[in-house]
Amino acid sequence: MDFKKAIIILIVLVVVFIFSNYPSFTKISFACEEPINYSVGVFDKRFGISYKTFLSVLTQAEAIWEKPMGKELFVYAPENSDLTINLIYDSRQETTSTLSNISDVLEENKAAYKTLQIKYIGLKKEYDSLKDVYDTRVSTFNEKNFLYQSHVDNWNSGKRNSRELFDQLERERTALEIDVEELKILEGELNDIVSGINTLVGTLNRLARSLNLKVDTYNTIGASRGETFTGGIYHSAEGVQDIDVYEFSSRDKLVRVLAHELGHALGLAHVDDKDSMMYHLNESDAQSLSKTDLMALRTLCRIK
Ligand SMILES: [Zn+2]
Repeated sequence: MDFKKAIIILIVLVVVFIFSNYPSFTKISFACEEPINYSVGVFDKRFGISYKTFLSVLTQAEAIWEKPMGKELFVYAPENSDLTINLIYDSRQETTSTLSNISDVLEENKAAYKTLQIKYIGLKKEYDSLKDVYDTRVSTFNEKNFLYQSHVDNWNSGKRNSRELFDQLERERTALEIDVEELKILEGELNDIVSGINTLVGTLNRLARSLNLKVDTYNTIGASRGETFTGGIYHSAEGVQDIDVYEFSSRDKLVRVLAHELGHALGLAHVDDKDSMMYHLNESDAQSLSKTDLMALRTLCRIK
């Protein structure tokens, strides 16, 4: 009776032990054998992509692993999911958006600055050639005026009775008066160009200052966000698996961030090859696996 009791207690203990470890018993299956069911959890619209687009990017990321294997490794199954994929918007994506906006504004301002600079060079040329014309005419005028003054002096010191000489002096005076009027018009044109140039210089300087300021802001924000910006994280605890994506700068980058984290979900670790999907910084632009990735995948899935 006591022995039977002991057996029953032992069986109960074994059953309790098995069931208390139930999740880890059922979770044990060989990698790549069965596809991982995933769903989308948090989806923040501030990333500026639609749910539909996100799913299609996910399909693209899946295919990067599935194509070389020729089988399903991931299945979108919201009703029966082992892996939740979250799109979480925080300061990291905000920083990326801010940087991209500043960079756009910088490009526009640079183009505007160049256009104004070309205009400035054109005006400066126009001013220089008109100034040459003006200077030549001023010196001609001075010579003529000097000659006229000596003719007047001669007249004053002479008999002052020659009609012919008097008319000659009057003609010289009238011609000088016309010269003065024409020089005044030229002066007006020169002043217009100068004020145009000054306005342009003011605008150019303001634009240059704001460009420098924006470059500074860009560099400050860029420096403050640091270098190890991988865009996503995979975590698994007590049978609950999550992928959090928090930063991407383009659709192609999002594909890579997701593919990298899906690789972790498959059971892959980081590889020491900069061109690989599983490189810890995930900094390549390729949309397919590297040889190193393929080798790691084949080893994981026990393919010869
Ligand atoms: Zn990683």
